[in-house]
Amino acid sequence: MATAAPESHLRENPFRLAQQQLRKVADTFGIDDRLVEVLRQCKKAVEVSIPTTLDDGTVRAYSGYRVTHNIARGPSKGGIRYHPDVTLDEVKSLAMWMTWKCSLMGLPFGGAKGGVICNPKRMSPRELEGMTRRFTSEIINEIGPEKDIPAPDVGTNAQTMAWIFDTYSMNKGHSVLGVVTGKPLTIGGSLGREEATSRGATFCLESALRMQQRGVEGLRVAVQGFGNVGAYFAKLIAEAGATVVAISDSSGGIYNPNGIDVAAAFAHKRSGGSIPELKGGERITNEELIALDCDVFAPCALEQVVTEENADQVKAQVIVEGANGPLTPAADEILDAKGVLILPDVLANAGGVVVSYFEWVQGLQEYFWKEDEVNARLREIVTRAFDETWATYQDRNITMRMAAYGLAVQRVAEATVTRGLYP
Ligand code: NAD
Repeated sequence: MATAAPESHLRENPFRLAQQQLRKVADTFGIDDRLVEVLRQCKKAVEVSIPTTLDDGTVRAYSGYRVTHNIARGPSKGGIRYHPDVTLDEVKSLAMWMTWKCSLMGLPFGGAKGGVICNPKRMSPRELEGMTRRFTSEIINEIGPEKDIPAPDVGTNAQTMAWIFDTYSMNKGHSVLGVVTGKPLTIGGSLGREEATSRGATFCLESALRMQQRGVEGLRVAVQGFGNVGAYFAKLIAEAGATVVAISDSSGGIYNPNGIDVAAAFAHKRSGGSIPELKGGERITNEELIALDCDVFAPCALEQVVTEENADQVKAQVIVEGANGPLTPAADEILDAKGVLILPDVLANAGGVVVSYFEWVQGLQEYFWKEDEVNARLREIVTRAFDETWATYQDRNITMRMAAYGLAVQRVAEATVTRGLYP
């Protein structure tokens, strides 16, 4: 009997949404239609087949993508995702958002993204290594330190980056540190990279609260997703004095109004456990987590988790988008009308790419910085971007998302005009 394919988390075509978002930004900020015509498409999209020998001796050909959206401001930068729901259009939308994110942060990078349709949770380390090395070989002419620099995303981690780095370096005949970021510390990773996305999100939230004459102390925070972004965000925000009332992973979550022991959750997750199995809280679903009575909701898992169907159930007054694209545009409008302050993805989760930039610079110079230095420079860049976004939000009376995207798209448009259209 045929089994039904699992339902994708994508309810709407994400690339179409990203293009619509760009249109709205262009209308609001008066960006020339000729520029929009350039920026609404991705510069290059490569699709590859990745034949991989599985542990039982069979061969499976996975499909993989690497997409560059834009390189007007520098080489392209963006993560690689391993997930069963990956589609070319999802990768394209994520690549476009990377262009805006790098631009908003003032980094000399364009945007890219990669993905492989696979379920890494059901693959052995040997299978993952084989697939990653073959994928790297298939895209070896697309990536490189001056060209396109991958990093981890959903389903990939420092080990994945180590395999990409090694495969690329073996083919070049020497170590090429700048080819990927998010590498393990032992082979040229940067101190502070692992926590960087969440640290940046924490800086943004603290800055926003400061604007409202509030602090983190005692704030009730619900975090969806307990991977790289969610787990460290929960840890850092709890250390800053907030009460983390709920956490979750793909199998569900737990709720405790008195606070969850985040350190215990870390240890439990590291030993292979799932969040709903964790003691010290009441079991909840991811849907229930979204509707919890709390002050801050941080979606740190996948796109499109808040839609027009559940947006009016959100009770938080502040949303920190740790994930990319967690709210659909319809949800965005509903939440905005309710007066919820949304710290958009390109601002809130940009800390990862900022420290990836530091890692790339350190790798090119073969000179490594102290952790305090990394964190201080991260704070400087994220806080500056926050202040610029906040000022635009106030001056123009638009949403924080529109302000962030507006600043970012204008800079890319300016670089495109300055360079001129080739030929
Ligand atoms: P990850 O693979 O480390 O973790 C993802 C987490 O989300 C896991 O805990 C998983 O169980 C959970 N999850 C998956 N599906 C879920 C669902 N339907 N409901 C609830 N939880 C679910 O990935 P990550 O690197 O933490 O990335 C998470 C998000 O943050 C993505 O949107 C990614 O693009 C974005 N992001 C990541 C980085 C980075 O540096 N890793 C930087 C910027 C943005």
